[in-house]
Amino acid sequence: MHSLTNPRLIPRFTRFLIPAYRWIEVNDALCKILGYSREELITMTWAELTHADDLPRNEVLFNRILAGESDEYEFDKRFMHKGGEIVYAHVASCAVRKPDGRLDYTVAIVEDISRHRRAENRKRLRNRTLELLAKGLPLHEIMEFVVHGVEAENPAMLCSILMLDEGGHHFVKGSAPGWAEFYNKAIHGAEIGPLTGSCGTAAHTAKRVIVEDILIYPFGKDYRELATKEGLASCWSEPIVGSSGKVLGTFAIYRHSPGVPNETDIALIESVANLIGIVIERKRIEEELQLASLVYRNTSEAMMVTDERNRIIAINPAFTQITGYSINEVSGKDPKILSSGRHDADFYKVLWSEIWSAGLWQGEIWNRKKNGEIYPEWLTINTVFNQDGAIHRHVALFSDITDKVRTDELIWRQANFDLLTGLPNRRMFYDRLEQEIKKAHRTGLQLALLFIDLDCFKEINDTLGHQTGDILLVEAASRIVSCVRESDTVARLGGDEFTVILSELSYTGSVEKVAQNIIAKLVDPFLLSDEIAYVSASIGITFYPGDALDVEQLLRNADQAMYVAKNSGRNRFSYFTRSMQEQAQSRLRLLNDLRAALSADQFMLYFQPIVELSTDRITKAEALLRWQHPERGLVSPMDFIPLAEETGLIHDIGDWVFREAARWASRWIVFCQGNFQISVNGSPVQFQSENMDIDSWLDRLKELGLSGQNVVIEITEGLLLNADSHVMDKLTRFRDAGIQVAIDDFGTGYSALSYLKKFDIDYLKIDRTFIRDLTAGSSDMALSEAIIVMAHKLGLKVIAEGVETVEQKVLLSNAGCDYAQGYLFSKPLPPDEFEALLKA
Ligand code: C2E
Ligand code: MG
Ligand code: MG
Repeated sequence: MHSLTNPRLIPRFTRFLIPAYRWIEVNDALCKILGYSREELITMTWAELTHADDLPRNEVLFNRILAGESDEYEFDKRFMHKGGEIVYAHVASCAVRKPDGRLDYTVAIVEDISRHRRAENRKRLRNRTLELLAKGLPLHEIMEFVVHGVEAENPAMLCSILMLDEGGHHFVKGSAPGWAEFYNKAIHGAEIGPLTGSCGTAAHTAKRVIVEDILIYPFGKDYRELATKEGLASCWSEPIVGSSGKVLGTFAIYRHSPGVPNETDIALIESVANLIGIVIERKRIEEELQLASLVYRNTSEAMMVTDERNRIIAINPAFTQITGYSINEVSGKDPKILSSGRHDADFYKVLWSEIWSAGLWQGEIWNRKKNGEIYPEWLTINTVFNQDGAIHRHVALFSDITDKVRTDELIWRQANFDLLTGLPNRRMFYDRLEQEIKKAHRTGLQLALLFIDLDCFKEINDTLGHQTGDILLVEAASRIVSCVRESDTVARLGGDEFTVILSELSYTGSVEKVAQNIIAKLVDPFLLSDEIAYVSASIGITFYPGDALDVEQLLRNADQAMYVAKNSGRNRFSYFTRSMQEQAQSRLRLLNDLRAALSADQFMLYFQPIVELSTDRITKAEALLRWQHPERGLVSPMDFIPLAEETGLIHDIGDWVFREAARWASRWIVFCQGNFQISVNGSPVQFQSENMDIDSWLDRLKELGLSGQNVVIEITEGLLLNADSHVMDKLTRFRDAGIQVAIDDFGTGYSALSYLKKFDIDYLKIDRTFIRDLTAGSSDMALSEAIIVMAHKLGLKVIAEGVETVEQKVLLSNAGCDYAQGYLFSKPLPPDEFEALLKA
């Protein structure tokens, strides 16, 4: 330690003589106090060594002595030390007068009271600072006050306070009012650590750093430059440490000359660092409290604090907003006053046992507002414990989640229920059926699944509109619901399809009654605003565990049984049977075989002659498709054409039929002097699609030397009713190529003659069902005659199908029918047999 800092080496009393302002004689002790040599002091006046602020007062006193008003004075004053520091002194001066009474000289005893004074000043600074803190001055103002206070006491020093950020790794702007702006800028955001200046090092190590000479200290270059730019030579940095031991910042003293601190300096550094630590910590706590109270007052979450006996002691505004209770109404009360009564004693038992064991409970709870309204809240209860571990407070936080619960409910409803009828939807139905299956499995009881499809609903939708259709569905749903027990499930799978789960059946016979009931209820007329509509229902019934064990299979069974009910005339129910399943499976197998049939060359064409009635000559033949199945034998087109249509196989099959029919026609044309026509059946599916390749058909005809006149395409009436641009386009192309068009099965569909002209139709084929019972004077006869007359009026020729007897032939002939086809002339024949017939 520097020898000057040891107070014991400095004599406390000293004397000097002053003629006017000049010292006559000084002793060593004074020299030491003021830092000058005796020779230097002799040449100086006391006035120039006096602190400027004290000089006027001193002069007043001295003038009094000069004037002879008094001879002795004792007073405190400040001198300036040679090093620039203030020296506090107690002076006792005494005048020595000449015999005439004028002042000769004064003798003064100067006592250095700096140590004591500085200690006092530090105490005063501390008290003033704490006062400002108590008054709530902002942190930076308080710090500035401290820095100014220290600098005023120590004119040779420059001070800085630097603060660390929350993380404790970077400086943020503290207070260094005496510093140039560039210093403050350089410091803000600087990382602490060794080599980052004495402050960075002090903050990093939490230890005081004394740098006697900045020029020779191993700082980073930047910091040395910074210091020398300011003309600084030494610095002493003290970490500011909080009560928890965490470094909050640094307090530093810089001087323009190299050197180390003396005891008083150290005391100053320590006490200021400590003071600032208190200020910063206090301010932080204040901020935290302010923030907490801000949160407490402004959060939308309600808060409630209860004491160790669980009596309410505090609530926030959100609490009042949600519950309607003010503090006066709940203070000292048990939170039970909020209970809704929706939860049983067990619920609260679990809640409290969790709080007691874990200190925390979180969950959804229903509470009651002051106005009686019950609402759901998301509640968190926390426990605050005493130091000895006993419960001190409970803090409850909650928010009103009515909206969320409502949306959740809505989403759940939308996902699980049919919007129109309010019945469970397909998803919910699957869930329920699964549950019921499990229950049935447990109880050993059976369950029935009913699949209900409304008959003719599509027509109602098409004719009366969807809105009316919707009204009917809602009404139908409620009629079905009225037929079952509350424990049963009625669901809407979509469209006009409903399902019913009848559970816990000990006796399956009761199901039939329910089914009959539903059918009877649905047959009743529906009064829809200003319309009356009639529907009926077809129901399929299947049982668990008798028919199937899982959801999918049960549903398939019920669906199949429903189709059987539909096909057997609708407005009835049908039980699922094994044979139904076998039929369905056989259909599936047939479909697989059909896919392979074309490449396996299993198709053939049969030909049935069409006879011109006026000449009895065969001028046309209809090509009829046959499938020679390897195991089943000859399969009827009635059985496989619908399958081919469903799967799209009809396109390839139809192409094959056309090419094959054209081939035979080209062979037979010679027997008929060129006017032989082959009739080919076209499926509506072919016409409605874009895949039908008419170009290749026409190429085929050219290739075989045939003209369009040699081909007739048979279509059905239904196709014309729903004719879109695809259909129109194809019909036009046929006509342009000279290919004629016949309406097959005429009379079984809509039989609207009016549109036939519009489509350029050439032939009508009267359906077999009219010909079958044809007798003179019968209604079928009248109808046939009417068709023939009308057709001729429109320029169409008529072909009668299914002519089996001579009588039918004669009647038709007499009615003017142009052609006939049927067993009377010939059954459909394989090509070679047909050829033989043609030749004959
Ligand atoms: P369709 O076009 O009305 O053909 C006439 C059907 O009546 C043929 O049945 C024929 O064998 C039958 N038939 C003819 N004369 C008589 C008779 O005097 N008495 C009775 N009871 N029946 C007679 P087939 O060959 O079983 O064909 C059934 C249906 O399959 C056809 O009805 C036609 O719609 C369809 N079809 C046949 N071949 C094809 C084809 O290549 N393509 C398409 N898309 N459909 C075809
Ligand atoms: Mg036909
Ligand atoms: Mg026909």
